[in-house]
Amino acid sequence: MAEKHAFLSPSSSERWYHCPPSAWLCEQFPDLGSVYAAEGTEAHRLCEYLLKKSLGRKYLRDPRKNMEYYTPEMQDCCEGYAAFVSEMVQDIRARGDEPAVFVEQRVDLRMFIPQSMGTADCIVIGGNELVIVDFKYGMHPVPATSLQLRIYALGACEMFRDLYEFSSVRMVIYQPRLNAVDETRMNIGDLYLWAAQELKPRAELAFAGRGTFAAGEWCRNCRARRQCRFLAGHELEIAKYDFADPPLLSDEEIADVLSRVDSLVAWANGVREYALTAALSGRKIAGWKLVSGKSTRKFADDACAAARLEAAGVDPYEKKMLGVAGLEKKLGKKDFDNLLADLVVRQAGKPVIVPEDDKRPEFVPAGIEFNDKESI
Ligand code: SF4
Repeated sequence: MAEKHAFLSPSSSERWYHCPPSAWLCEQFPDLGSVYAAEGTEAHRLCEYLLKKSLGRKYLRDPRKNMEYYTPEMQDCCEGYAAFVSEMVQDIRARGDEPAVFVEQRVDLRMFIPQSMGTADCIVIGGNELVIVDFKYGMHPVPATSLQLRIYALGACEMFRDLYEFSSVRMVIYQPRLNAVDETRMNIGDLYLWAAQELKPRAELAFAGRGTFAAGEWCRNCRARRQCRFLAGHELEIAKYDFADPPLLSDEEIADVLSRVDSLVAWANGVREYALTAALSGRKIAGWKLVSGKSTRKFADDACAAARLEAAGVDPYEKKMLGVAGLEKKLGKKDFDNLLADLVVRQAGKPVIVPEDDKRPEFVPAGIEFNDKESI
């Protein structure tokens, strides 16, 4: 769902819902956007075009000519989304209902969240159910229980509940680059109860700049994260251990450190980046200075160096085949599969340690048998 910047936007709802004062704090920082956001916006435009086309809508303008990030992979992903929704529409028809389909539908959220509006990717109403489908082009997994989707579902229910009959809402995340479709259902009564008891009060706190700071997963998308005292406190919690006694950390303590280490490293790198940007803009960070990094050698004129080498009988170029992911991106999934699928083999990756609830099967090193009673 593409959104213009709104103070309490659904796309940033995980942040302001859990940490209401972050809404005003973020206003102090510019929204720098990102390549990923621009790529996602273009993918959404293509999804809209392909879905409307497959629904037989007329007078459509193909957006591909003016797209900067278009690739065959994007085409595959958006075609997959259009086919997924069209199939859903056909299924409802096969059950004897005529569904109503709304593509890129603007929804008014102001009844629940001050000054908030948004655009839902697709809403399908039929068979006593409202289905809201959200296309995600990013690679960070998004569950169907995400607040953003639930908020859009609420806006859609509010918009259509007097016009159509439905008693439940199905929320679907379609995330093709992860081969993932996730969905969850809620009955309308529960959705409105949640809106009245949880969403509205939190949105009002956030709008008023009140509430309590709370750090967590949602800080990832907070523009204040590099300077935020509460996030720093949360990340530095790791230092709470009394390392002196006993001299060795227990396995339980190691497990706790492991569960925090990714976000600690990401936060620390963010702070380093912030300090570098500040220093480059002329601010002095006490006790730190800027120096030149390690120098590298390069040709002042590549073409001239290549001409000299060729004249001397030396081929200056290296020809290297693209990898599996690169070729799949270049060709698109369909052409890639037609041409090369039978030649792709999977090599086991280097073992990594991950939380127990990770979906991948456990790797057992040769000659090792895990014994629950004995720690390694
Ligand atoms: S970084 Fe986290 S704790 Fe700090 S303001 Fe942002 S969301 Fe709240």
